[in-house]
Amino acid sequence: MIEILFLLLPLAFYSGWRSAKKNKSKPCVEPHKLADDYVKGVNYLLSEEPDKALEVFINHPDVDEYTAETYLLLGNMFRNRGEVDRALRLHQNLMARSSLTKSQKTSVLFALGEDYFAAGMLDRAESVFQELLEADPNGVDACLPLRQIYEQTHEWEKAIQTTLCLRKKRLPESHQKLIAHYYCEMAEQEMSLGNLHRVEKYVLKAETSFKSSVRVMILQADLLERKKSYKAAFNTYLKALKQDARVLSYLYSKIMKVSAVVGKDKELERVLLDLYKNNDGVLSYLLMIISRNNTSTDFLIDDLRNRKLDIPSIIRSVGILKNSNAICSEHEKLPLIEKALTNYLKGEAIFQCQNCGYKMQNYMWRCPACYQWDKVSHT
Ligand SMILES: [Zn+2]
Repeated sequence: MIEILFLLLPLAFYSGWRSAKKNKSKPCVEPHKLADDYVKGVNYLLSEEPDKALEVFINHPDVDEYTAETYLLLGNMFRNRGEVDRALRLHQNLMARSSLTKSQKTSVLFALGEDYFAAGMLDRAESVFQELLEADPNGVDACLPLRQIYEQTHEWEKAIQTTLCLRKKRLPESHQKLIAHYYCEMAEQEMSLGNLHRVEKYVLKAETSFKSSVRVMILQADLLERKKSYKAAFNTYLKALKQDARVLSYLYSKIMKVSAVVGKDKELERVLLDLYKNNDGVLSYLLMIISRNNTSTDFLIDDLRNRKLDIPSIIRSVGILKNSNAICSEHEKLPLIEKALTNYLKGEAIFQCQNCGYKMQNYMWRCPACYQWDKVSHT
């Protein structure tokens, strides 16, 4: 509802305009009609009757430079609320007005492009943004939505070109990473077709764009594995894993496969144990010992007692201990599970506002974020 307040700005403007005019002797035409339509339109919006509001705004004969801005924002508001049809109608109507300045026409065209994108009409959105880019080759505003379109359509080469166009404004290093991702996407496509020569070419380009990319390392290891250079593949997977433990679940089966071929199981076990102890990649080691089950699991008891494990890790640890001799009786298991769950809940939010999603540790009658009463309940 707050977003509708901006519609009151033109009213404030006309109110000021009228006061100013009262002090002058020259006769003038007051924009009563415009103000009346505005009040009517805003009223419809406030009473949740957007179609009636839309009719009022669209059928108003005159749009000046002030109301044009407001109509533009109103259309954006419809789009942000997911009402893309209304946004399109309003922006198309606005585009047909002859009273717009050149820069307003550009803004409305941009908004239309965003409407088409939101409606999933990617071809139309693309031609709108291309038109804007051609009209202003040095501008970069149209590059970002174009890049998003090409990401959706998997046109990676074009995505790279529009990212390069964004760099005209010296945008951050993150764009180097993006370009590396696009080349990796192309490399993966070629990998699935068995075109290793092309994979190599794209991986090299990705590496040139962002040298320390973990994804590039994994693709390099994949390539080595395809070429049967298993030892080098194993080392490269390990390098990627040490750089970013989050990728473990992604490359776990790959690294297990080459580890078995080159007989490096013990080395892998050491690395995973190290990751387990020093990272939050808790599931990593557990997954491995589940599959191997030949390592001592006594440390799991200490971890359940003293470490804050996530729920999947608690379930897996208990599952492993259930089948080991580390715990003798049922009586020992229950306090252990109780302690692990208590550790898990430490610092966790227990309550959540059902209205806005705000989480809190203590029950509150009124949500401190959205100020609604009686909306807090257990997560
Ligand atoms: Zn709330």
